[in-house]
Amino acid sequence: MERVTMKRTYWTWHPFRISCLRFEAMASATCPHHVFSICPTASVSRIVCAMKLSRKRIFGLVWALGLMTLLVGGASFPALERHYMRQQAERDAVPLTLAVAGLRAALERYAPLPALIAERPRLATFLNHPDDTNLQASVNEDLRQTAATVKASDVYLMDISGRTLAAASYREAGSYLDRNFSYQSYFTQALNGDLSSFSIYGTTTGERGYFYAAPVEDGERIVGVLAIKFNIAAFESIWRGADSAFIVSDRNDFVFMSSRPDWHFRAIRPLSDATLRVIAQNLQYPIDRIDLLPITRTPLNADAQRVYIEGTPRESFVLTSQSLPDLDWTMASLTPTRPATLQALTTLLIAGLTMGLALAALLALLLRQARQAEAFAREQRSKRALEGAVAERTADLQTALSDLRRTQTDLIQAGKLSALGQMSAALSHEFNQPLAAVKSYADNADAFLERDQIVQARDNIGRISKMADRMATISTHLRNFARRPQQATGPLLLNAVIQDALAVIDMRLTTGNGVVEYTPPSDEIWVTGGHVRLQQVIVNLINNALDAMEEQANPVVRLTVNGTTVQVRDTGPGLAPEAIANIFDPFFTTKPPGKGLGLGLSISFNIVSDFGGTLSAENHSDGGAVFSVHLQPATPIKVAAQ
Ligand code: ADP
Repeated sequence: MERVTMKRTYWTWHPFRISCLRFEAMASATCPHHVFSICPTASVSRIVCAMKLSRKRIFGLVWALGLMTLLVGGASFPALERHYMRQQAERDAVPLTLAVAGLRAALERYAPLPALIAERPRLATFLNHPDDTNLQASVNEDLRQTAATVKASDVYLMDISGRTLAAASYREAGSYLDRNFSYQSYFTQALNGDLSSFSIYGTTTGERGYFYAAPVEDGERIVGVLAIKFNIAAFESIWRGADSAFIVSDRNDFVFMSSRPDWHFRAIRPLSDATLRVIAQNLQYPIDRIDLLPITRTPLNADAQRVYIEGTPRESFVLTSQSLPDLDWTMASLTPTRPATLQALTTLLIAGLTMGLALAALLALLLRQARQAEAFAREQRSKRALEGAVAERTADLQTALSDLRRTQTDLIQAGKLSALGQMSAALSHEFNQPLAAVKSYADNADAFLERDQIVQARDNIGRISKMADRMATISTHLRNFARRPQQATGPLLLNAVIQDALAVIDMRLTTGNGVVEYTPPSDEIWVTGGHVRLQQVIVNLINNALDAMEEQANPVVRLTVNGTTVQVRDTGPGLAPEAIANIFDPFFTTKPPGKGLGLGLSISFNIVSDFGGTLSAENHSDGGAVFSVHLQPATPIKVAAQ
């Protein structure tokens, strides 16, 4: 790409640094608005120029960027929301671990209780004598007090068939007394010697219970089972204050504990028929209350999921889970996703606002650059227009100048011809006289030849030859004088020009009155000018001087050279004051029509000016006029230029 560096310097305020920076403007063949600079905004300027960004396009670009930001923001929202949900899941891990630890601690705290109570000898005694009503009453009361002390919801004693013989709830309606729990797994386990079996049931009372059992031994023999029931709701109540909801589910994803009562006995995934059958057989859960919790999950990481729980309203949670492998349970915390969603929205809003501000700044910057580019282009256009106008005017001026030169040359020519016209009488006399002499010499020569006077005849022929030479000389001078001058100026030998001028004037002097006094300077004087034109000026001045002294008997023109100044002085009437003011104006003449055109001095003035000299006129103190030609000195050369 061809580039032209414009020698221009732009000073501009940098938007961030208060300093002046130099902008180098570059015009190129492809983009005349290029603005390069050494400041960081240069690249922006380059883009503005390279893309030829108009204001409309800049607005379009910024709108497009804005729209793109919105689209990108919209598209990135889900990812951002997931990011914050993952963070939420990480935060939830700690309280979940604490909750798991709390649950474990609670379960383990009560585990040794049934074995301790079962060691009471009265229990074995009673089991050996189940019909002893006094003993039964005493054991019932004993168990009631124990239950109240350990805050158990029931403590009861079963024989090996599973029938309840004594219970802390003996006074209450719906007491376990006389009921058979042989089907329950804790009973079977205890009967098999497990000292701290436990499980969860909720069938009997509809209240979910947490059961521990231990065998009652009489020596080596197991005679019954002592069971303690705790109400699960007591565990759950401590979770209620937390931000998250908690659920504890068994291996079948059946929720048996939760801080949300509406999730109790809900299955997270559809239970298989086989599972349902087992539950029904064990009478573990109230089968009619088992319901599916409509939950959809999207994984966030290994331990966390985003879950939706359908309902009115539909709820969304971050689910973080921890498994309790020894119990085959899973505990999970469910934190609403709303804070994560709000956080994602806030982040997007802040990013959007920041981007908006950046776009506004970009818009301002681009508009500023576009304005500068426009201003530069405008300046360039007006500069080109100005240059065009100047070139046009210059061309006009050149034409006018060459017209003037031509006219001037024509005038010089006219002036010379006019001078020749004025001298025509003298010229005809100049030629007629020798011609008449030639005629008489020829006649004489003829007569002498007839008389065989060869010597005389030769003398006459010699005279004729001299006359012819003289006429040839006059003719050469006239031809040179009448020739169109060359425009060139150069060094001239001043005396040579004066001699040639005197030769022309000589023709007038031989026929008319008057003399020209001239003493050539002793040194060679070189001046700047054109030979024929300077000769014409001098002839003109001498002619005028002779004209002014026409009335005088013996007019004398004094021609002097002083340095590079030539002076022509006469003893005529001098110059009238009004003549001095206008003497160099074209067509100013005091001579009668036919005698003068009023061009001689005007032409002479211009000729001398062309040589870089001046022509002036004044009256001499002794009378008469003095014309001075001041010329520029020139370096001598061997052959004088014309
Ligand atoms: P022209 O001789 O055709 O009139 P010029 O331009 O040569 O034109 O002269 C202009 C006038 O200047 C003359 O008519 C005359 O009045 C005056 N002038 C020129 N030379 C002299 C002089 N030596 N003395 C007095 N008047 C002069």
